[in-house]
Amino acid sequence: MATVLILGGGFGGVVAAERLAEQLGEKHQITLVSRSRNFVFYPALVKLAFGKCERNDVSFDLRHAMLRRRVNFVEAEVAHIDLFANKVTIAHGEVEGKLSYDYLVFALGRRLATEQITGFFEHAHHLLNIDKAINFGKAISNFHEGHAVIGQCKGARLPVPVYETAFALARRLKDRGERKRVKITIVDPDRLDSTLGDQATLVLNRALAAHDVEVIHNLPIERVTANSASTRHGDTVNFDLLMLVPPFRGSSAASFMGTTDHAGYIMVDSTMRVVGHEGIYAVGDCVNFSGPKMGHMAVRQGEVAAANLAAELEGHAPVAHYSHEVKLVIDDSGGDSIYLRKNLWTDEPGSFRQGRFWSLGKHVQQRYWEFSHS
Ligand SMILES: Cc1cc2nc3c(=O)[nH]c(=O)nc-3n(C[C@H](O)[C@H](O)[C@H](O)COP(=O)(O)OP(=O)(O)OC[C@H]3O[C@@H](n4cnc5c(N)ncnc54)[C@H](O)[C@@H]3O)c2cc1C
Repeated sequence: MATVLILGGGFGGVVAAERLAEQLGEKHQITLVSRSRNFVFYPALVKLAFGKCERNDVSFDLRHAMLRRRVNFVEAEVAHIDLFANKVTIAHGEVEGKLSYDYLVFALGRRLATEQITGFFEHAHHLLNIDKAINFGKAISNFHEGHAVIGQCKGARLPVPVYETAFALARRLKDRGERKRVKITIVDPDRLDSTLGDQATLVLNRALAAHDVEVIHNLPIERVTANSASTRHGDTVNFDLLMLVPPFRGSSAASFMGTTDHAGYIMVDSTMRVVGHEGIYAVGDCVNFSGPKMGHMAVRQGEVAAANLAAELEGHAPVAHYSHEVKLVIDDSGGDSIYLRKNLWTDEPGSFRQGRFWSLGKHVQQRYWEFSHS
């Protein structure tokens, strides 16, 4: 009997665990370790901030969902992985000390490198966890006039909630009869059309114009004070309300594995195997693939890793390969949402659609996760 350890209870880890449980049956022992027993459905955090759903709608109890699938669940903090001794060091939690494994799936997501932005902690809002989203929601309730600045820092890799927040804020202010009292600006360290392509950017720009939202590109914010955000070169934007997605970095637990790139992301091949290591897979936000970091990618990568790990266990060659595609839905908060699909590993132009259906699709996805895992 082999011991399979999965680290991380997000999209990547949960899907890898479920697929492995289906494929391996009771022949092998599967254990998922995560710091919290709650799974968080991050794509709904903008809705949570705007009071369109409750805390309980965006998270569910992982332990029961895992145990029902005969996957052991351990609530604990992973500190370190020794790839040569096949051991994971647990800092604290339900178990302490070291856990051994024969096969490993690393799915600990990314780290928020807020320390890279001076003043971020004191002066900026973000919505990358439930509590921060609720706090930002309170700030929105108390915000009635002035300049709202919303954006991402260099390395943030998550444009969707930025645009969704700007659209939702514009709609909220309009409903309150306060839209004319507020200027909304999106700050972007790059140009979005480098990811989306010209056609989709055109549609997005039309939506921004319809909501009267200004965008400033090539503004990599590195310093925040109580009312201003500025770049290294002194370009500054003043604000009365600021929501910034901080820079991302690879998981700290991966730092001593010797398998990471300059930003701490784990290097994997298209089978999701960690380069140079048999029996070790990594999936989700923690891997070194280019472009935005998204949940649907983590799901697909979890499926690919599970299929290949199951094959490896039986002594077979990899049976699945991941293709790096972005599928992005920007909810226009009442208007026509934007759907973009593009393969990031080819030069093929992406396809995009617009309509109310796509935000409904996102809602249905949330319900699916809620019902199939609760
Ligand atoms: C506001 C917001 C909106 C988004 N919108 C979309 C969207 O519309 N569409 C989309 O596809 N994606 C969206 N995303 C991105 C998506 O949520 C992520 O890409 C996805 O969550 C990545 O999954 P993951 O499993 O790699 O990591 P995560 O979901 O971050 O899971 C990592 C897990 O590991 C655990 N963990 C981390 N470190 C440790 C440790 N040291 N010890 C133990 N456990 C640990 C965490 O608690 C967590 O359970 C959004 C994200 C945010 C924040």
